[in-house]
Amino acid sequence: MICLGIEGTAHTVGVGIVQDTAPVILANVSRMYAPVSGGIHPRDAANHHAAVVVDVLRQALDEAQMDVEDVDVLGFSMGPGLGPCLRTVATAARSLALYTCKPLVGVNHCIAHLEIGRKMTEARDPVLLYVSGGNTQVIAFLNGRYRVFGETLDIGIGNCLDKFGRELGMSFPAGPAIEGKAREGRCYLPLPYSVKGMDVAFSGILTAALAKREEASLPDLCFSLQETCFAMLTEVTERAMAHTGKSEVLLGGGVAANRRLQDMVASMAAARGAASFCPPRSLLVDNGAMIAWTALLMHRHGLTTPVEESHIRQNFRTDEVAVTWRS
Ligand code: AMP
Ligand code: MG
Repeated sequence: MICLGIEGTAHTVGVGIVQDTAPVILANVSRMYAPVSGGIHPRDAANHHAAVVVDVLRQALDEAQMDVEDVDVLGFSMGPGLGPCLRTVATAARSLALYTCKPLVGVNHCIAHLEIGRKMTEARDPVLLYVSGGNTQVIAFLNGRYRVFGETLDIGIGNCLDKFGRELGMSFPAGPAIEGKAREGRCYLPLPYSVKGMDVAFSGILTAALAKREEASLPDLCFSLQETCFAMLTEVTERAMAHTGKSEVLLGGGVAANRRLQDMVASMAAARGAASFCPPRSLLVDNGAMIAWTALLMHRHGLTTPVEESHIRQNFRTDEVAVTWRS
């Protein structure tokens, strides 16, 4: 079975094509919208997606050396995300479904990050630390659903890094530049450590870090911001592992490309005799392959989304989905 998935919850529009035999991923093409100034404007991002989605689709089909008629199932990112972006990509997916008469599957974006990690690493039943621009969640499978064990109470960790970088003149996305600068950092500047139960919050840390910009060097600031935020995320993830009794941790989301975060999570896992997994960067960031793979899993278990019920869900919660494809 061949499935084509379209991702478009925020800044990235991506088309992935996967199959249920090796090699699983036949194509995974993405294009990212980067604002000229300021943060992501939802309508500008949606216009970007509308302008490039056909191109991205053609490129993915070329890469997979197939025609759209060869595809058996069509998946799309139903939510959570920015309304205009979601609507643009859902429209593209519906059009393809109607044109090809193939079934449509609406996919929860957060779950897709977990499923592609399970498929492409050795992780089988992990706690997922999902760290991206807009989302920050600790997720694990329990009693038929992916449950959220902890999450951000305000902004996503990626958003925190990007805003920090923007204020200091770095271009979007700022995560990689902050990681580079942090490596030169020598001195830890105390910042608020914001763990509330199983949840985390970043906006206060962001304000505190920016307030120190006159008195500290950029490397020390970047180092301190990373150390604080990543330690918080690692702590909450460890607690979720202890609570669920799971012995695997999986990373997902663009911020998981950060080596320091990977190292912290890996040493936490090692200390408790657990295993740590991280997919390649192309599957960590928002991508079409993860949507395609999750749609394939769902379709194999009889789940489809009729076009007339394929409305987008901006606040689609991870635990709303009955995960019938896992026993
Ligand atoms: P996503 O929303 O999952 O596509 O991920 C995008 C986010 O990942 C942006 O906020 C980036 O700043 C962040 N990001 C990408 N690479 C890195 C990195 N090496 N370190 C920290 N954050 C990163
Ligand atoms: Mg994402």
